[in-house]
Amino acid sequence: MNLLSDKNITRVRLLVQWLFLLWIIGIGIRFGLFITAVEQGNPQPFFSRPAGVEGFLPIGALTSLKHWIVNGEIHPVHPAALVIFLAILLMSLLAKKSFCSWICPVGTLSEAVHKVGARLMGRNFRVWRPLDLLLQGIKYLLLFFFVKIILLDMPAFAVGAFLDTPYWAVSDAKMLHFFTRMSATTVTVLAVLTLLSLVYRTVWCRYFCPYGALLGILSLLSPFKIRRNPQTCSDCRQCSQACPAGISVHTKTTVVSPECTGCLTCVAACPHQGVLAMQPSFWKKPVPVWVFPAVALTLFMVSIGAGMASGHWQTVLTYDDYRHLLPMLPYLSH
Ligand code: SF4
Ligand code: SF4
Repeated sequence: MNLLSDKNITRVRLLVQWLFLLWIIGIGIRFGLFITAVEQGNPQPFFSRPAGVEGFLPIGALTSLKHWIVNGEIHPVHPAALVIFLAILLMSLLAKKSFCSWICPVGTLSEAVHKVGARLMGRNFRVWRPLDLLLQGIKYLLLFFFVKIILLDMPAFAVGAFLDTPYWAVSDAKMLHFFTRMSATTVTVLAVLTLLSLVYRTVWCRYFCPYGALLGILSLLSPFKIRRNPQTCSDCRQCSQACPAGISVHTKTTVVSPECTGCLTCVAACPHQGVLAMQPSFWKKPVPVWVFPAVALTLFMVSIGAGMASGHWQTVLTYDDYRHLLPMLPYLSH
């Protein structure tokens, strides 16, 4: 069996998604043990703090990005937040929203929930198209809100001052508690999103994720696009039926949409070899299906590696800093 054939690329994607999910769960457990050691007053941590946990601080990363732009410095408290954020932006610029469909743990879990729903109900549901388009606008409004208050309106001195606060220093621990000590509101919101995702595919990603909205806009600039050869296409529409983003692939010669995540489901669904491909605009020869995910994942790993190699990965905070700061957490949350 050729694992890297068009037909098998969905299985490969699933494998990559779950490997990343397991990796992220490992980071979460290690960070949980680090914070537990702090809370128990241990003189030494059980494990060192994994910097990758800062991938869960995207709003702080946006503030860090502004700080870097206006003050010329990568803030040293949570530098990995910015490195991961930049890695994902670069991925989207060059390889579409591949982060959403190949790496993001929320996307992986949403797809899993949807598959469970499809099994339970025996079919997939799609939101009525005009309502679907209206709801998609919510994530862009949320993105506009964050871009306006952080990138546009926040003065340079305020950005630096925020990143120097104990609030930002312990934001990683606050994020951990968000998952481990969920409030009734959090549980209710997650339960509603999960129930909706059982019925409709990836509700959070499609309608509410401002991160996905940003990546979708950047992805329009990506040289990679799904391209269809109308001469050899039999117009069977299987690509459009399979597309999780609801894109009418069979009517396009090139898919230009901020909703296309580069999941390659349409390529796997096409019954004819070489009719559909994720092809960069500058490359006229056929590109094997595995090239796109290879480029996307390489971009991600190399960007993270560059952040590490340049010394912008580990926080300057010490274990003792966490021991001093963590007792303040309840007072910093309100
Ligand atoms: S057009 Fe193809 S690659 Fe893009 S989201 Fe739809 S199925 Fe995935
Ligand atoms: S699945 Fe392939 S052959 Fe069928 S409509 Fe789409 S591109 Fe054409």
